[in-house]
Amino acid sequence: MPELPLPSSETPRGAPAVGGSAPRVDQHLAQLASLVDQMRVGAPAETRLQSQAIAYENRLVDSRLGVAAALFVALRNRYRPTASHSLRVALGCSHWALATGMPPQARDQIEIAALLHDVGKIGVPDAVLLKPGSLSSEEAALMDRYRATGLDILQSFCGESPIVEIVRHSTTWFDGSRPQATLQGTDSPLGARMLSIVDAFDSMTTDHVYRRAMSRERALSELFSCAGRQFDPDLVRQFAEVVGSERTQDEVTRSWLYAIDPQFANAQWQFSPVAFTPTIANGNTLFEKNLLDNMQDAVVFVDANLQIILWNHGAERMTGIAASSVTERKWLPELVGMRDEKDRELLNSHDPVALAVKNGEQEILRASVTGRSGRPVTVDIHAVPVAGSDGAVRGAAVLLRDASPQASLEKLCHSLHERATKDPLTQMANRAEFDRTHSMFVAAHLERRLPCSLIVCDIDHFKKINDTFGHQAGDEALKAFAALLKGFCRPGDLVARYGGEEFVILCADCNNSTAAQKAEQLRKSLCEMPILALGGKSITSSFGVTEVQADDTPATMLRRADRALYEAKERGRNMVVQLGSGINSDDEEKSNESRSCWRRWFGGSEAGLLLAKWLVTAVPIKVTIEKLRGFVADHHAEIESIDGDTVKLRIDGEKITLNRRTNDRSVAFQMELRLTEENYEDAGLHGAVRGTRIYVAIRPRRDRDRRRSDTVERARIVLSSLKSYLVAAETDPPTAASPSADRQ
Ligand code: GH3
Ligand code: MG
Ligand code: MG
Repeated sequence: MPELPLPSSETPRGAPAVGGSAPRVDQHLAQLASLVDQMRVGAPAETRLQSQAIAYENRLVDSRLGVAAALFVALRNRYRPTASHSLRVALGCSHWALATGMPPQARDQIEIAALLHDVGKIGVPDAVLLKPGSLSSEEAALMDRYRATGLDILQSFCGESPIVEIVRHSTTWFDGSRPQATLQGTDSPLGARMLSIVDAFDSMTTDHVYRRAMSRERALSELFSCAGRQFDPDLVRQFAEVVGSERTQDEVTRSWLYAIDPQFANAQWQFSPVAFTPTIANGNTLFEKNLLDNMQDAVVFVDANLQIILWNHGAERMTGIAASSVTERKWLPELVGMRDEKDRELLNSHDPVALAVKNGEQEILRASVTGRSGRPVTVDIHAVPVAGSDGAVRGAAVLLRDASPQASLEKLCHSLHERATKDPLTQMANRAEFDRTHSMFVAAHLERRLPCSLIVCDIDHFKKINDTFGHQAGDEALKAFAALLKGFCRPGDLVARYGGEEFVILCADCNNSTAAQKAEQLRKSLCEMPILALGGKSITSSFGVTEVQADDTPATMLRRADRALYEAKERGRNMVVQLGSGINSDDEEKSNESRSCWRRWFGGSEAGLLLAKWLVTAVPIKVTIEKLRGFVADHHAEIESIDGDTVKLRIDGEKITLNRRTNDRSVAFQMELRLTEENYEDAGLHGAVRGTRIYVAIRPRRDRDRRRSDTVERARIVLSSLKSYLVAAETDPPTAASPSADRQ
């Protein structure tokens, strides 16, 4: 390493005394030299002597930097070893320049450059600066940035001066092999080539947290081994010769100390006044400063011209940009690599900071900025305009809060929710989501006594479609079908893929007939919809439709819709079958009952008769009887009598409760069913079918039950259940001409 200027017992003749009498200067110079040497990492330093050393170090630095000595002091406060290194390198350069007779002005420049060549380390986080061992790539990137920061600082102090050029090119390799090298060989300034050698030599011969010091000999041999590649070979030889000359080093120290001239020291620096600085930025009360420095969030103050006047530690931490490199620069979104939520570069016209200043209104935005590791950080930006007492906007206070944990959690929740609720192929709700929604749907509609309907659809002969066109084409057909269903839905409805090629639609606030009409429209549209993947051919589907009934659970409603679908398939597919009467049909029935024509059929109201209805099924009598068997078994009904086509059942009605929460007494019923097979026209959807017409009459078994207010209600539940089991729909009483009428 270049020897630090050693103290001399002589006081230079004619030199002015500094800091008191001449002998004291000499005495302390000796201490300074040894202490500067000791102030390497890990070296013990005695406090009293250290403070004396600092006093003299200040004088040395003062003599070269003048007002800019504050920069050096800032660096020393931030990281003392770097400040000591800078001073040693400056003295080493100075020593070398003196020995080679370099003109004074050039020497001044190289000394100043050397003193401040590492000033950018002010902006490097402690965790990186003090880390023992090697740095990660992210940390190395942060560390690398300190040189740019240092150049920014120097430039803001002395513009485009040779000093900046020396610092800029001191990292350039002689053979130009470093990336971003703009100069190579002797095109690089002489001061830069010298600085790079002294810098490396001092670094190698000093203990670091990450590396022990080398001997001077070993360091010199390293310099020689890198000569021609990293260093100017002629200068390496020259440096090796100069390194031993102690006499010159003494001269350096003294020449620095005795040549203190404020005009010289300040000649390099320019003063750039700040246009507007609010009190908090320059006056910083203790509390405000503490608050801003310790906040996790990034805080930035800008003036009315968007010039940055405050950039707190949080902003440095978040962006990796040192306050020193941005203060007084104009705020622009690109300064922090701001991008919008769709990851597009944020236009200046959308910049929340500029908008807050321009419009005098708060701006809030979710965006991302480039974090210190180079990766984007999601932030919530809150820009608040700051107005003066006259009401004019003087700037803005900007808060950037790291929202990445929140944003990534939101994203994770969203994707988990998507996965849990959506069918990946069609992007419709999946079966689990349908089950959840269906339960809520039924409960909510029943509670408000609003109709809601369910359409179940299943693509016809889909297996054949797969076999003919391939599974991939089948998938495309499923997607097209799902999109068609979705297109027919209103907000509030739900389309779900129930499984395979079966879909369900929950139609909110929609009665049976509206749902059936919708299903019919769907059916027609599907027939007419060419599907590209099927070579332009279309597909068909069968539909089962039902409306929620007063006694329904989601399961009974779905089973009924399923039965309707089954019916549609049985009857030849590509059709809509609707089952059930609906939630409000009771009311309609009540009013209908009073004017019902079937009463005339039975000669007025029969004593004890609670309900009498005509039902029709689309299957022959044999099949209807099969279905009736299921009803009898499930309701634990007893067959009281069979007489021709009439069967009488006894139902104890234990399971017939009005409300799942009440534990009410059951009512026993007698149910009379009269079955007739006949051709009939189905409501226009299916044409003529061979079906069964059923007359149902329900009576209470016990007289006392007749008077109970809920008996009719319970009878309706029994009827509704029967309709479900028989897949039967209500129909008008037969006319006098019909076969059933004949039989009456
Ligand atoms: P039907 O008219 O009686 O409903 O006849 P179908 O052929 O549509 O009914 P089936 O239940 O016999 O066949 C359903 C077919 O749907 C069989 C299965 O391979 C196919 N399928 C189920 N899920 C998918 C899927 O995700 N993609 C494709 N391409 N096919 C599927
Ligand atoms: Mg099918
Ligand atoms: Mg199927």
